[in-house]
Amino acid sequence: MSTPGTVVETEEQQALRAAVAALGKRYGRDYVTRLVRDGGHPTELWADAAKLGYLGVNLPEEYGGGGGGIAELSIVLEELGAAGCPLLMMVVSPAICGTVISRFGTEEQRRQWLPGLADGSLTMAFGITEPDAGSNSHRITTTARRDGDSWVLTGRKVFVSGVDIADATLIVGRTEDARTGRLKPCLFIVPREAEGFARNAIDMELQAAEKQFELVLDEVRLPADALVGEEDAGLLQLFAGLNPERIMTAAFAVGMGRYALERAVSYAKERSVWKDAAIGSHQAIAHPLAQAHIDLELARLMMQKAAHLYDAGDDVGAGEAANMAKYAAAEACVRAVDQSVHTLGGNGLTREYGLASLITASRVARIAPVSREMILNYVSHQTLGLPKSY
Ligand SMILES: Cc1cc2nc3c(=O)[nH]c(=O)nc-3n(C[C@H](O)[C@H](O)[C@H](O)COP(=O)(O)OP(=O)(O)OC[C@H]3O[C@@H](n4cnc5c(N)ncnc54)[C@H](O)[C@@H]3O)c2cc1C
Repeated sequence: MSTPGTVVETEEQQALRAAVAALGKRYGRDYVTRLVRDGGHPTELWADAAKLGYLGVNLPEEYGGGGGGIAELSIVLEELGAAGCPLLMMVVSPAICGTVISRFGTEEQRRQWLPGLADGSLTMAFGITEPDAGSNSHRITTTARRDGDSWVLTGRKVFVSGVDIADATLIVGRTEDARTGRLKPCLFIVPREAEGFARNAIDMELQAAEKQFELVLDEVRLPADALVGEEDAGLLQLFAGLNPERIMTAAFAVGMGRYALERAVSYAKERSVWKDAAIGSHQAIAHPLAQAHIDLELARLMMQKAAHLYDAGDDVGAGEAANMAKYAAAEACVRAVDQSVHTLGGNGLTREYGLASLITASRVARIAPVSREMILNYVSHQTLGLPKSY
């Protein structure tokens, strides 16, 4: 197979791919399987990736980061995923929270958070989804009101990943515009142990070290500087953070798809049930695997385009490309995993081979952070100019 990233990536980016792949290989799928069995967290891999400069590769150098962009960060996540040990919290901690704070945070917030996010000593989660809003984030009701020098936050969130291991969660709430009375989005940094901030783990059918939580914010009192940046820049901040999130989800999906495909291909080369012919010589097995490979390569190309646009400062162009990349990568991942499990026959469903759990895991990329249908809606309306039904 061709080396991922050649031609469209710089030599430095290709070297980064190779170095991260080597780290991923040292941990591999067995590491994740052990963590899930023992209820642990990927602390060692997180620390190693941070020490090597991979976690903060997109953050500004003056705050301890690598001075690169989402292109580099997505390479890190994809390669760890391709080795079977993706770090889900990379999608939220350095990608969303790191980006939002470095682009919009106050100088004090940057100093407080960015060096820690870069060296892995601090982790942040991100909470926007609400039980009664879901895909419709215009409907969120978590509300922040001013009380003297403080903010008081009340509301509920659901499916927020990694709140238990994150030092703080970046919560999307709303404040009332003093002039118009309309609610506008605002982002708040809520420390894990803040009074009134309760979390309940959701019992998910996912075999992953990172857990999802339902959150209740009951009059959580926060200092004035918990608000990220300016009160009026909330919407800009959200868009700045959500494009990296989609690009990173694409990286997560391409990595997982590659991992599953590689396992299936090596199995298909060895397994033989008719004379001496390996099952991989039957085109009914070979062609869908080849198709899966093509789909993953195409999805990566769109991911690279989105990252390139984003890093070049084209937020609007990146928005469309990031949505398309997330869509393409999720679909490619779901199909690659499905075909890989099928290629292993009965072994595809055993614990020993460990591929079946990816059927559930690959579906995450189809639903989060924005579902397949909402991306199709976005492209229908924004790109094709078709009318809206809702
Ligand atoms: C493993 C996992 C991790 C997650 N981590 C986080 C996190 O860290 N932080 C966070 O804030 N959230 C997180 N989420 C939440 C995720 O972003 C939401 O699940 C997602 O946005 C969809 O919202 P919903 O589940 O409420 O689905 P709903 O909005 O209820 O949608 C249900 C179905 O209806 C479809 N649908 C809805 N509206 C339309 C429409 N207008 N047209 C066509 N179809 C439509 C959807 O596509 C979907 O198939 C996570 C979710 C999962 C599964």
